[in-house]
Amino acid sequence: MNRDAFARELGVLVGDGNVQGVPVTAGEPPAWQVAPGSAAEVAEVVRRCNRDGVAVLPVGSGARPTRWKAVAERPRVHVAMRRMDHVVHLDETSLLVHVQAGLTGAGLEKVLVPRGLSLGDYPATMLGSTIGGMIAVRTPGKSSARHGFLEDAVLGVSAVLADGRSIHTRVAPRRATGPDLARALCGSEGTIGVITSVVLRIHLKAEARLLAAYVLPSFDAALAAAYLALREECQPAGLRVYDSAEARAHLGDELALAGPALDDDAALLLVATAGPTDLAVCDRDLVTSAVEAEGGAATDPRLADAWWKLRGGDPRQVPPPSLQVTATPSKLRAVYRAVRDAARDAGATARAHVSRFDAGGAVVFVTLVADGKPLDGARLDAVRATCEQAAGDAGGWLLGARPAQMDPYLAALRAELDPNGILNPGALS
Ligand SMILES: Cc1cc2nc3c(=O)[nH]c(=O)nc-3n(C[C@H](O)[C@H](O)[C@H](O)COP(=O)(O)OP(=O)(O)OC[C@H]3O[C@@H](n4cnc5c(N)ncnc54)[C@H](O)[C@@H]3O)c2cc1C
Repeated sequence: MNRDAFARELGVLVGDGNVQGVPVTAGEPPAWQVAPGSAAEVAEVVRRCNRDGVAVLPVGSGARPTRWKAVAERPRVHVAMRRMDHVVHLDETSLLVHVQAGLTGAGLEKVLVPRGLSLGDYPATMLGSTIGGMIAVRTPGKSSARHGFLEDAVLGVSAVLADGRSIHTRVAPRRATGPDLARALCGSEGTIGVITSVVLRIHLKAEARLLAAYVLPSFDAALAAAYLALREECQPAGLRVYDSAEARAHLGDELALAGPALDDDAALLLVATAGPTDLAVCDRDLVTSAVEAEGGAATDPRLADAWWKLRGGDPRQVPPPSLQVTATPSKLRAVYRAVRDAARDAGATARAHVSRFDAGGAVVFVTLVADGKPLDGARLDAVRATCEQAAGDAGGWLLGARPAQMDPYLAALRAELDPNGILNPGALS
């Protein structure tokens, strides 16, 4: 491969100003970053790369770049989607928006909110990501009990396959009939195609948002109350359960203001309900009665205000969790207990909160602590390994784990669509 000639060809395809060399160390194959301005340019770049077996790595906001080291033996082109950041079409009657993949969630909200619309009640931290990146990586974080998983809002996807062909999955009422290829692209992490645009279901901006806080006698009781309310079809915009140690770590100042100290065994349940005012009140009342049925009571709502700020990216520093485990509603308590016991046996303490609730389960966020400080380094690795094992034995799934049974099918699909293995070869492997 003649690298100068290849770089010139990239310049012809996307414009010289949109091609940059990526620094590599001596002896490594060359790498470039290109920023196409349209789906047609993405297709041309991918087609050209396919001809020489050059790896293609899509880049959204770059929050979690692909592990390109896995493809360090071959030339690579990082395809930055940042120039493709337009709203293609907004249908305010059908509540649909067609957006290019490089637009961020925050950028989309800037267009929607002044029109009384919104992407929905997803965690604010996800909004810095591009729409393409959000769809390409499926995680429980991109969900809301009110609107479901972000991929459920995807009604159509346009993407470029490894040979440069473009596909557009059909936007039809109830998706009409036949297999839904949009699903295959959701979570494919750039291995099946480069997503160029997405049609998403959007929502009316919530008329009211109500925040409430409750104390329950135990963590088990708080989880039971959460699922009692969800089974009654309460649809909160956000829901979180804290054990007492985690509540102190996250909300210490507000807890002190809120009155008597939280018992060590007690738990805090915080909820945000949203939507038309009547529905928001109704959802909050469902939570209140579920809490009362489990022996709890309402407490100072300032705790819920503090949590909501934290969720939206409060500048106060909360250490990242040491371990994130997802489990079905019936396994959550066992997972929490197993992790706590395993941490204790390893000479540490586990504190936790549970959030990302939906009917299928929730995520337990665990912070491992010793001598009052979050663990780090080799000690953290050792205790975390023990806790991960215990969580798995209790029926939990580590966040990011994929069912291994799917791997042969994914490999077969990749081999069929991308015989030269150019699309994000380091991902999902
Ligand atoms: C394995 C994994 C687990 C993660 N777990 C979580 C989590 O639990 N919670 C959380 O909030 N975040 C998580 N993230 C971060 C996640 O990357 C972001 O939430 C968001 O999806 C990334 O958006 P971005 O625009 O920053 O994309 P980037 O970080 O730039 O890219 C993320 C991945 O998507 C691919 N990609 C980006 N754009 C496109 C496109 N247009 N077409 C095809 N592929 C594309 C990239 O090649 C890369 O593999 C995880 C990321 C990965 C890879």
